[in-house]
Amino acid sequence: MQPRDLSAHTEYVAGRGIEEVARELGMEPTELIKLASNENAFGPSPAAVDAIEAHAGSVSSYPKTSHTDLTERLATDWNVEPDQIWLSAGGDGSLDYLSRAILRPGEKVLVPQPGFAYYAMSARYHHGEIHEYSLDQGDGFTQRAETVLSAYDGERIVYLTSPHNPTGTVCPLEDVERIAEETDEETLVVVDEAYGEFADVDSAVGLVRERDDVAVIRTFSKAYGLAGLRLGYAITPSEWADAYARVNTPFAAGELSCRAGLAALDDDEHVERTVSTVEWAREYIYEHVDAPTWESHGNFVLIQVGDATTVADRLQERGVIVRDCTSFGLADCIRVTCGTEAETKRAVEAINEVLAE
Ligand SMILES: *Cc1c(COP(=O)(O)O)cnc(C)c1O
Repeated sequence: MQPRDLSAHTEYVAGRGIEEVARELGMEPTELIKLASNENAFGPSPAAVDAIEAHAGSVSSYPKTSHTDLTERLATDWNVEPDQIWLSAGGDGSLDYLSRAILRPGEKVLVPQPGFAYYAMSARYHHGEIHEYSLDQGDGFTQRAETVLSAYDGERIVYLTSPHNPTGTVCPLEDVERIAEETDEETLVVVDEAYGEFADVDSAVGLVRERDDVAVIRTFSKAYGLAGLRLGYAITPSEWADAYARVNTPFAAGELSCRAGLAALDDDEHVERTVSTVEWAREYIYEHVDAPTWESHGNFVLIQVGDATTVADRLQERGVIVRDCTSFGLADCIRVTCGTEAETKRAVEAINEVLAE
């Protein structure tokens, strides 16, 4: 037997891992720095690590209390009702829950190009179809309501990424609101704020409180440094937030993930250190890299380097792993995650050496 026709489905291409690259190059993992997947340069919140250790002995039970506690905590923080918080396995899991809850077979989803690959993947898994709107490189990848609305053709879900991966631009809230206002009543606008902590702009959660057609995605993978735990959530309109109970996996987030998430939310010091180092690193990169960059509101910077695949390969030989953006449709750009001060300086030096060759 065979699975259904998956020929239209694509595989997610993740940034390369340190161990994988070290093995290939015959180097020690400690000689390499990985700035390819927008992970937290300082690792996980230490408070989260303590919580994981403290609760390791309780993983034989389903995560009932911790799931409820984390949901209630997030609801309080965002000033919404607990049923509006949809915990999931990473922000990616929330995309799946929204697809499940919203899409009827054959309905269309509007996604940015360049953009995050999983929007389209999730829609296809749920028998949806993909249409794209383009963010124009010549226009600095600026996000405007007109760009989205001129491509809009009655899609059931419209994805906005703010800050946007891989370009770092934000979609102003008045544009989000205009898109929600001018699309059909039956269209959901999803604002993916995976990098929201790094941006000096307000969250779209305010719109979720006011409207029934805007949802927001957040994650613990980036600012909180918990990518390996797979913990994220959607914040959905109160009018239909009860759909979660009908589409979620039982106990959508694990015991250790929920415990770690709760601890990380109280670890202000870790988040502040992370965010301030990112702010420093972005400025350092704009100022010192010998190539055009775009202003970023995320924990990464997109850099125009010419032949991205060649530059990424040469950097890798120097022990610096970055993201070749060819798979995003940007064959002349690399995306460099903000590292610690030492990592960022080493990466910029290596990029400049490669570009000077
Ligand atoms: C990292 C990321 C996510 C979520 O990742 P998870 O690890 O699944 O939480 C979502 N959207 C974008 C644009 C991202 O870069």
